[in-house]
Amino acid sequence: MREIIKPAIMKGLLQVKRMERLTPNYVRIVLEGNDLVKFREARAGDNNKLLIPPAPEVEFELPDSPREKGEGFVIRTYTLRKLDFEKGEMLVDFVMHGDNGPASLWASRAQPGHKIGVYMKVKTKPLFQKADSYLLIGDHTALPVISVILEDLPATATGRAVLEVHSEEDKLHLKKPAGMEIKWVINSNPEDGSVLAESVKAYNIHNGIHWFVMAAAEYRTIKVIQEFLKNSSAIERKQWYAYSYWKSGVAEDTSATDRRDLSIS
Ligand SMILES: Cc1cc2nc3c(=O)[nH]c(=O)nc-3n(C[C@H](O)[C@H](O)[C@H](O)COP(=O)(O)OP(=O)(O)OC[C@H]3O[C@@H](n4cnc5c(N)ncnc54)[C@H](O)[C@@H]3O)c2cc1C
Repeated sequence: MREIIKPAIMKGLLQVKRMERLTPNYVRIVLEGNDLVKFREARAGDNNKLLIPPAPEVEFELPDSPREKGEGFVIRTYTLRKLDFEKGEMLVDFVMHGDNGPASLWASRAQPGHKIGVYMKVKTKPLFQKADSYLLIGDHTALPVISVILEDLPATATGRAVLEVHSEEDKLHLKKPAGMEIKWVINSNPEDGSVLAESVKAYNIHNGIHWFVMAAAEYRTIKVIQEFLKNSSAIERKQWYAYSYWKSGVAEDTSATDRRDLSIS
């Protein structure tokens, strides 16, 4: 019988070092703590599971498994934007989508010293595949992962990133290869829909070159993109990733994420 090897889990209780309002609807939380060393094998761009306390100032111990989280705690999925062991910092960037979500609310009220639990798997799947041309599509929640990819692409990379943010003021200066064009799309109500799927359809993904397409956005947008890419003759299934990052009108299903991503044995 083939042995199933579960990826190693890194976990730690960290605290807010400082907050940086990068743009009106995008906040960077800088975390620090003795447990940072436990994330030695973590990779920027991979997702983490954050254990958010019922109120920002609540002191707590990190449960061994997030399944044992206490009353009122929630688990949410975010992206590790950057790790800097010299400075002793872990960066996580939060979209401020309002007070209706515990994670968004926690980040908007964060103050130095506030605690948060972080769980991550050691991942081996590359964030992107080498290609002749890249198409990166994301809404505001995908800005962290696409920023990491743009920073990591070879200097010769060509293609386009289409990034949807809440307002003109939410556009950021991103480090990227000269041949990667950035198109910004403004959408102040992503809960009501997005034009991102249309921009994938309109892009000329033609036969004859090796593509890599990565898309991450709201559930309905991703459904349309997946359908389109599945039916495209110019791109094979292994050349694209398309992930739903959130679902309009629905809180993240932490029971599902607990089962799928956080099974710690
Ligand atoms: C792999 C992965 C990586 C992610 N990385 C990041 C990241 O780095 N930064 C980041 O900000 N988000 C990221 N997300 C998205 C984030 O997990 C969701 O937005 C999550 O729902 C936020 O939790 P919450 O507690 O604020 O809201 P929830 O309690 O989950 O939802 C409450 C309500 O808010 C709505 N809502 C949730 N997110 C948004 C939004 N962005 N805009 C408008 N309405 C929303 C929901 O539809 C629901 O009605 C990522 C998701 C995945 C799957």
